[in-house]
Amino acid sequence: MSLNHVRPWRNIYRRKSRQIMVGNVPVGGDAPISVQTMTNTLTTDVAATVAQVQAAAEAGADLVRISVPDEASSRALKEIVTECPVPIVADIHFHYKRGIEAAEAGAACLRINPGNIGDENRVKEVIKAARDHGCSIRIGVNAGSLEKHLLEKYGEPCPEAMVESGLEHIRILEDNDFHEFKISVKASDVFLAAAAYQGIAEATDAPIHLGITEAGGLVSGTIKSAIGLGNLLWMGIGDTIRVSLSADPVEEVKVGYEILKSLGLRHRGVNIISCPSCARQGFDVIKTVETLERRLEHVKTPMSLSIIGCVVNGPGEALMTDVGFTGGGAGSGMVYLAGKASHKMSNEQMIDHIVAEVEKKAAQIEASEDAAQDAAE
Ligand code: SF4
Repeated sequence: MSLNHVRPWRNIYRRKSRQIMVGNVPVGGDAPISVQTMTNTLTTDVAATVAQVQAAAEAGADLVRISVPDEASSRALKEIVTECPVPIVADIHFHYKRGIEAAEAGAACLRINPGNIGDENRVKEVIKAARDHGCSIRIGVNAGSLEKHLLEKYGEPCPEAMVESGLEHIRILEDNDFHEFKISVKASDVFLAAAAYQGIAEATDAPIHLGITEAGGLVSGTIKSAIGLGNLLWMGIGDTIRVSLSADPVEEVKVGYEILKSLGLRHRGVNIISCPSCARQGFDVIKTVETLERRLEHVKTPMSLSIIGCVVNGPGEALMTDVGFTGGGAGSGMVYLAGKASHKMSNEQMIDHIVAEVEKKAAQIEASEDAAQDAAE
C-alpha cells in the first residue's frame, strides 16, 4: 500500500504483507500500523495489571503484551483478559506449557521465542493450542537469545542468523498449516536490528512486528527507537510496533505514536508544532506547550496546533495547522483558525482559549466525518 500525498516526496510505499488478526485488531496488509506496549506489573497482581492495560489503551495502545512466567500468571491472565479493552498478547519464554495455558486463558496472540521455547514437538503443541483457541502467534526472534546451533554456525548474533532463526520457525508453523503469525527480529543494536528486519521483510510476506529491544531510558530509548523504527517504517517495513523503554508503558505508547505521526503513517490526537523559543518570544513557549500537552491529552481526533513565539515563523506555521497561536507584543498574540488570522488573545487567557478552540475544532472534524460516513452508507 502506498500513502500517496499531493507531495510525492512524502510517499511511503508499505511492503505488501498478508493480514492476520490479533483478537479484533488486524495486523498487516493495509491495516493501520498498530501500536503495542507491555505491562511491567506482576501478572499475578490482576488489579494493577488491568489498570496498566487500561491506561495504555487510553493512551492509544491497540494491543498490550503481558508476561506469563508461571502457572499462577496463566491463571491471572484468564481474569485479566476479561477486563481489558484491547486484545492481550501473552509473552512466553522457556515453558511451552505457559503458551498452552495462555491460549486457554483467552490470550489473542502468543509471543514465543524460538531460541528458548524448546524442540519442534513442543512448538507443535503450542501451535495446536493456538489453533484450538483462535490465537495468533508472534515468532519473536531476539539477537540476545538465538539458538545454539545458529550461534555456532555464524559465530555471533548477525542479521543472517536472525533471519535463519525466524525462517526455521516460520517453516514449523507453515508445516503445521498455521498461517496466523507475525514475526519480529529484534536487537538492541539499531544496525543489527535494521539489517535483520530488511532480511526478513524480503524473505516472507508475514506481517512484521518492529522493535528495538532494550532500547534504554525515556530519552535515549526514544531516540534509538526513532532512528531504528523510523528508518524501517520509512522503507515501508513494519505492521505493528512496540517501543521498548525503561519507562511507563504509557510513555512507550506515546513515543510509538509520535514516530508514526512524524512519518505521516498514523495520526491520533493533537500534533503540536512549536518553536524552541528565543529572546523574541512574546510569551513563555516552553511552559505553554508543556501545559497544552497535558490539557489536550484527552483529544483523540487527529488535528494540528501551532504554538509559535513570534511572527518570524508564526504566521507561516499557522498556515498549515488547524489552530495556531503566535506571540505578539503587549502581552497578547494572534489566534489563527484554519490557517487564517482570526482574533487577538491575551497571554493570560490564551491557554484556556486554545484548549476551547481545539476542542471545538475536534468536534467539527468528528461531526463532518460522521456526516461523510452517513452519506456513504
Ligand atoms: S519563532 Fe520567534 S520566538 Fe520562536 S524561536 Fe523563532 S524567532 Fe524565536
